[in-house]
Amino acid sequence: MRIADKNVTRAILERHGFTFKKSFGQNFLTDTNILQKIVDTAEIDKNVNVIEIGPGIGALTEFLAENAAEVMAFEIDDRLVPILEDTLRDVGNVQVINEDILKSDLQTRIKDFANPDLPIKVVANLPYYITTPILMHLIESKIPFSEFVVMMQKEVADRISAEPNTKAYGSLSIAVQYYMTARVAFIVPRTVFVPAPNVDSAILKMVRREEPLVQVQDEDFFFRVSKAGFVHRRKTLWNNLTSHFGKAEETKEKLEKALEIAEIKPTIRGEALSIADFGRLADALKEVGF
Ligand code: SAM
Repeated sequence: MRIADKNVTRAILERHGFTFKKSFGQNFLTDTNILQKIVDTAEIDKNVNVIEIGPGIGALTEFLAENAAEVMAFEIDDRLVPILEDTLRDVGNVQVINEDILKSDLQTRIKDFANPDLPIKVVANLPYYITTPILMHLIESKIPFSEFVVMMQKEVADRISAEPNTKAYGSLSIAVQYYMTARVAFIVPRTVFVPAPNVDSAILKMVRREEPLVQVQDEDFFFRVSKAGFVHRRKTLWNNLTSHFGKAEETKEKLEKALEIAEIKPTIRGEALSIADFGRLADALKEVGF
């Protein structure tokens, strides 16, 4: 019997009188095949430490603990702490940390792994209302996570893994793909959760690149330029750049010069630019004095 078996989940929820909190994005997985597939996709073994975000009642945690060296699970909802103590009572290699992942000091936390030198993978069924902030928090923590294998709303997974010239491609694709490769591993129907969410989900596998995808002079400026390129999706790159940097004659001259250096046509749309194009553009803008 597994925590995620529908009857077991129901019994646990009843025994503890647990009621779902929508504001915490609580949709618990009740499909053991999918949990096994997540573990397989993440290629976890006893030489890997895992960080889980939002263990809920421990459905995924149980599978992770069985396969990994150790699991550190961050859960914001303090009502779930005694439940996890109950459901994971026979599991020795899980630390539950009752903390908002967005406020956690991960650099300090990861020193608490019994073997902190093992590679760390992030595996989670994420709370959907903060998928992007969580990913950015993890990426920006500068911890050398080797992989993220995380469930999210399918639409967000599509945006993160999108290629140029598609509707889904945008600054989020660039923010993640700059550091990681990203591909949708499989789709998960809404019917396997309690309660069922309003959208389908996907497992996204992201693997850290050895080097960022492009070399840029100033990362923050590069991200700023790539965001600016998508503010008005129907407008040309030129229009987006002048909205962002200004329309004064002198500014326009500098913008023209930068586009020339980067060999990018001003009439193009942001969505047609590859990450390398945005890198060249950002560096050229710096070169002309932005
Ligand atoms: N892992 C469980 C499963 O698959 O059944 C639960 C997944 S549920 C989609 C998301 C979980 O994240 C919930 O347990 C929720 O309480 C927790 N959560 C929400 N916001 C959080 C935050 N900021 N930090 C840590 N956990 C959070």
